[in-house]
Amino acid sequence: MSDDLRENERTVPVAPPSDGALRFIGRIRTPWHDRADCPRQGRIDGPECRIELDPLWLDALEGLEAYDSIEVLYWLDQSRRDLTRQSPRSDGSTVGTFALRSPARPNPIGTSMVRLLRIEGPVLHVQGLDCVDGTPLLDLKPDRCAFTPKAPPQPGDSQTA
Ligand code: SAM
Repeated sequence: MSDDLRENERTVPVAPPSDGALRFIGRIRTPWHDRADCPRQGRIDGPECRIELDPLWLDALEGLEAYDSIEVLYWLDQSRRDLTRQSPRSDGSTVGTFALRSPARPNPIGTSMVRLLRIEGPVLHVQGLDCVDGTPLLDLKPDRCAFTPKAPPQPGDSQTA
């Protein structure tokens, strides 16, 4: 997959990226070795993939096995990060970066809701990913629809307009 600009695409000058505030916590193993071979969005009935969590974080998995569906956040590390307008169809018509789920964005965070098949030690077996093999893992969270806050309620919980 090329990072060349397409007709009418626009960029801004950006400083060299500094990812120091993020900590990669593992790697995602998928059948895809090239961006062009990945699905545009993962399918819940897609191929089984592995999330290899750094064993340092093993303790942090406790309780996650209760969820059939989890949210995975990852760092789309092969993306360019300077595009403001993009031409997904390569036909000269453009759309703003924030109106797209393109991997090319200032902070290339990808998210997928995946089906959790099983957890074996620090390895999670899932379906529903769309990233290349070896993509760095940022975070794992329970599906927000299935999740009930464990902490006591706060005043803002019931606040309306
Ligand atoms: N599901 C995520 C989301 O919506 O935030 C990502 C969607 S993005 C459209 C998925 C595409 O990103 C894939 O089809 C592939 O072209 C590209 N991609 C996959 N892994 C990548 C990586 N490590 N770095 C950059 N691009 C990647």
